[in-house]
Amino acid sequence: MFRITQYLRLLARAAREGDFPPPATPRGPAGDDRPAARPGPVVIWNLIRRCNLTCQHCYALSADHDYAGELRTDEVFTVMDDLRAFRVPVLILSGGEPLLRPDLFPIAERAVALGFYTGLSTNGTLIDAPVAARIAATGFDYVGISLDGLRATHDRFRRLDGAFDRSLAATRHLRARGVKVGLRYTLTASNAEDFPALLDLMRDEGAQKFYFSHLNYAGRGNIHRGKDARFAATRQALDLLFDRAWDAARRGLDEEYVSGNNDADGPWLLHWLQRREPTLYARHGAALRQRLQAWGGNASGDLVANIDNLGEVHPDTMWWHHALGNVRQRPFSAIWSDTSDPLMAGLKQHPRPVGGRCAACAHLAICGGNTRVRAQQISGDAWAEDPGCYLDDTEIGLDGSNPRTVLTTPFRSRRTVPVVVEAGAGA
Ligand code: SF4
Repeated sequence: MFRITQYLRLLARAAREGDFPPPATPRGPAGDDRPAARPGPVVIWNLIRRCNLTCQHCYALSADHDYAGELRTDEVFTVMDDLRAFRVPVLILSGGEPLLRPDLFPIAERAVALGFYTGLSTNGTLIDAPVAARIAATGFDYVGISLDGLRATHDRFRRLDGAFDRSLAATRHLRARGVKVGLRYTLTASNAEDFPALLDLMRDEGAQKFYFSHLNYAGRGNIHRGKDARFAATRQALDLLFDRAWDAARRGLDEEYVSGNNDADGPWLLHWLQRREPTLYARHGAALRQRLQAWGGNASGDLVANIDNLGEVHPDTMWWHHALGNVRQRPFSAIWSDTSDPLMAGLKQHPRPVGGRCAACAHLAICGGNTRVRAQQISGDAWAEDPGCYLDDTEIGLDGSNPRTVLTTPFRSRRTVPVVVEAGAGA
């Protein structure tokens, strides 16, 4: 996840006070000058696969029926204890639709009691006033509600008339009870035109967070990858997102903007700053770059993890076709620390062993080589360049003689599309 607002607030402060702070090395408790112990990963936990909707871009390929073999409550509690001991800071409870799980609230109450930052990722259609009150009483730190566009677009994406109205009502019920709410939006060619209006809706509704997701190639999102907004539309959308986040940062608004599934957003922020605020870029561009490098881009398999409804552990939610082990057989902490799996070994490597234009890119230290599952879904090679990178050669420091080696194609089936290697391609 790329925390746009975090950087733009620093920039707004630097514009006011003249000083852009360098990244801090995390330290231990007060008086202890040693580096702090490394935290565990943020865990996105798909507790249930069942969903009352069948969205076009669902990575979980969920449907409205029960799935056999899902983790029982006591098993979830056991895993949670291990996660806590492993210094996992954040649990995002997801699905399917997590509110369909009868024990969701006991699970969430335990997560809060154990000290996790506890988030809920939901389609919002099941949140009426009593459910919102229960969410507030449970102590969720954050609720993310998916909206794919305005009414007509959203209902078409969600394949349910009235889904938009129900999700919007959920936002209002939660806000009325003081729960932090964010809108979650995935850009595709079919909903790009609603994006500006959704940003306005966020502000009008008092939602405090906007999560902008690029389409990733997993589940139904893989099948629909042919509709992925082309690079020009992506760049335009990101410029608008950065403009809005910059406006909020300078005005000190309680609005947070983040993006996900495309770590090229980090380098693109530098390009945006250079074009929009050349004086600030000249003064603080180097310090911003340093900060972005400290972030380091894609963290799947390292500081981001996924547990699915059956207890299988994956490098992130887009890697459901690659299981690392099951929490019924081995603790999560043991599975996550095990680098005998070549994919995990590569994901934990710094820099990652990426090829093509990613290997030659001037921004590799910021972006981390981006989203490996996209490379794997298109080419069969998890270490090929990311075909979802929307920066051109000049923008990544190449002279234009390195044509793309992996080209995005419409969905057929996994591993049937050969790597396209053109003469003069990079390493
Ligand atoms: S070329 Fe690769 S490393 Fe560079 S910005 Fe694009 S995706 Fe990231």
